[in-house]
Amino acid sequence: MYTREHFEKLDKQDPLAGFRDQFALNPGEIYLDGNSLGARPKKAAQRAAEVLEQEWGQDLIRSWNTHHWFELPYRIGDKIAGLIGADKGEVVCTDATGINLYKAVATALKLNPQRKVVLMEGSNFPTNNYMIQGLVAQLGSDFEVRFAEEHEFADKIDEQVAVVCLTQVHYKSGRLLDMQAITEQAQQKGCLVVWDLCHSAGALPVDLNAANADLAVGCTYKYLNGGPGSQAFIFVAKRHQNKVNQPLSGWWGHNAPFNFERDYQPGAGISQMLTGTQGILSLAVTEVGIDLMGAADMQQIRTKSQALTRYFIELVESQCGEYGFKLVSPRDEERRGSQVAFSHADGYPIMQALIDAGVVGDFRAPDILRFGFAPLYNSYADIWDAVQRFKEIMLTERWQEPRFNQRHAVT
Ligand SMILES: *Cc1c(COP(=O)(O)O)cnc(C)c1O
Repeated sequence: MYTREHFEKLDKQDPLAGFRDQFALNPGEIYLDGNSLGARPKKAAQRAAEVLEQEWGQDLIRSWNTHHWFELPYRIGDKIAGLIGADKGEVVCTDATGINLYKAVATALKLNPQRKVVLMEGSNFPTNNYMIQGLVAQLGSDFEVRFAEEHEFADKIDEQVAVVCLTQVHYKSGRLLDMQAITEQAQQKGCLVVWDLCHSAGALPVDLNAANADLAVGCTYKYLNGGPGSQAFIFVAKRHQNKVNQPLSGWWGHNAPFNFERDYQPGAGISQMLTGTQGILSLAVTEVGIDLMGAADMQQIRTKSQALTRYFIELVESQCGEYGFKLVSPRDEERRGSQVAFSHADGYPIMQALIDAGVVGDFRAPDILRFGFAPLYNSYADIWDAVQRFKEIMLTERWQEPRFNQRHAVT
């Protein structure tokens, strides 16, 4: 049996412990939802104020040049590249994940013009399916989306498939796919692979180029702490750049946007992935989160993340085991991202009661309680304290209070 002292001791030995103080966290609250919206770096407030008051307020239009607003998507892209095993010039920070996925898969389809099928995991985060269904409908009736679950990949990745489009860490279960093995297998069949890194960037070491990945996308408001709705990113391997055009050919992806020419001419390299004017306030704040992540050692993040999730599973099962929670995440931590999901028929009100008690996770329909672990600001003691509150809610049946059953728009 563990005690709180065990976890306090781990915190004292934790090489990442110093990062916690860089984040604005509510006292007494245990935030286990960094996989949905990362916590705010304290410095983000100062950076936002600078952009509002000086750069926008005083310097106005000049700031595109003097404060390098124009280069921000590339500068941040290069920093993200360092976190996901990409090279400079292969990543740009822009738009929402879904929009980037549209551009990435459209590009991949054009790079593999003999084939018309996109293979996806049906149980993936639905926007990915929706975006590619929209793309395929736009391209015409020759094109097709096929769905497969993990156990079917080996059979369904075949010579008809142009693009395999997968999310490395599953948004609900936290299951981690073997990027290297799947990429190799798909490429042997002549497919291109587009990876979604929404739940892996900043959560674990990702090495796109070591895996020979073709294209990738991901978001910055989860583990990269970029802020609500912060711009996502898109990666295009150097070998695929300058070959075909992505379809959202706006002026920011033009090779000379300020020549205001009538006809589109693609910009060189990764710049062609841009479309329109960037949200500078959001980008500026995003950079603060990316810089914090860049200062941490990704292997230490992974080691701590695995320990946090392992302890959480162990404690929930030993202290709340009798209440019927079922582990949905892989038990093997080599196959698990930085989150833990349990299913329970009363998952919704239980999660609401947990949030009320200051343990903030989230609920994913139909019955999943989801807890995300962010090694930069979650401590080991957080795990112990969270499970004590969890146990208390179950023991007292407080989750049965009617107020916990009222559904909010965002769960
Ligand atoms: C969070 C997430 C998204 C978010 O998409 P947006 O277009 O940025 O809202 C997309 N896909 C996956 C797998 C996600 O986890």
